[in-house]
Amino acid sequence: MRERTTKVPEAEPEGTRAPCENFPSAHRAREGGTLLHSAQSSTVLRGPAQLGLDPGDPAKLGGRGSPRRREPEGTRAPCENFPSAHSAREGGTQRALPVGGATRAPVIDVHCHLTDAAFDADREAVIARAWACGLTDLITIGAGSGMEGNTAAVALAATQPHIFATVGLHPHDADRFQPEMISAFAAFFAQPRVVGVGEIGLDYHYDVADRAKQRLAFEAQLALAVEHQLPYVIHHREAIDDLFAILRGVPVPMRGMIHCFTGDRTFARRALDLGLYLSIPGVVTFRRTEALHDALQYIPHDRLLMETDAPYLAPVPHRGCRNEPSYIIQTAQRTAEILGLPLEILCQAARKNAETLFAL
Ligand SMILES: [Zn+2]
Repeated sequence: MRERTTKVPEAEPEGTRAPCENFPSAHRAREGGTLLHSAQSSTVLRGPAQLGLDPGDPAKLGGRGSPRRREPEGTRAPCENFPSAHSAREGGTQRALPVGGATRAPVIDVHCHLTDAAFDADREAVIARAWACGLTDLITIGAGSGMEGNTAAVALAATQPHIFATVGLHPHDADRFQPEMISAFAAFFAQPRVVGVGEIGLDYHYDVADRAKQRLAFEAQLALAVEHQLPYVIHHREAIDDLFAILRGVPVPMRGMIHCFTGDRTFARRALDLGLYLSIPGVVTFRRTEALHDALQYIPHDRLLMETDAPYLAPVPHRGCRNEPSYIIQTAQRTAEILGLPLEILCQAARKNAETLFAL
């Protein structure tokens, strides 16, 4: 298996950022799985924290660990339990929580990996903190650790009404793609709270899988999503031309999102023109991400989503440490600042968009 760099550059140009830089494992061994999505649409705000409810029985959450990883040594952030150790990295202008006085972001984390092994020791506490920080729903990504990962994500989603799952085969696992997987994925659609296909796409940066196989797996899963009228969660890295060439073959208006959008205005426009949503990660809190900040000004508010990609890509001041859904507050806060919007308005828009896209 390929060695990956663990150094996160201060800023990276358009679409070049690995979504899982410090925790490459999550995007390694994957395969498939999936489930059903509810047809009803709702804009009603809910969530255990909002309703003052207990987030759930912790005993139900950590039943199974994440699938086996095969990442190289030394890829984990050293400060997982001491996130404050990294606050100084960002030049001293950032402070620990709360940022700007905000302590809650009533939003939906549309992309996190809750079944990752990084959460095995305290998964229930991580989820409880998400509700405490105001998150209303979480979408955990099944792709990334083979069929086992999909099964785990679906099982976790079945434990709580505000946790949803996607299923799919990550581009890094495309060498393992077999046409029979499609029916296996489709079988997951009958399970509770399976709301999408993902993450799927192309990654030409690491080239973990053969590019032709990546394209094949991507196209097959897009077709599956279209057939089942499910949204798709798109991963991409250094593959923009092929990505859009394939996406142009999908019926419009498209029902999908670009996960971990760190691109510029040109890239945003290409995605928006196809009808895609753009999901903003913690990278927006990093220095030297002016192109992304500029793109944000261009993206209509009804196409914005918010995500953590936890346990990867933690925002400042947690950068380099394990990420978790509650850290979305920093990402939302920074995005709101850039857009000149009150935090609550941004969260409300992003939450509504997530509910619309995933029919939550
Ligand atoms: Zn991810």
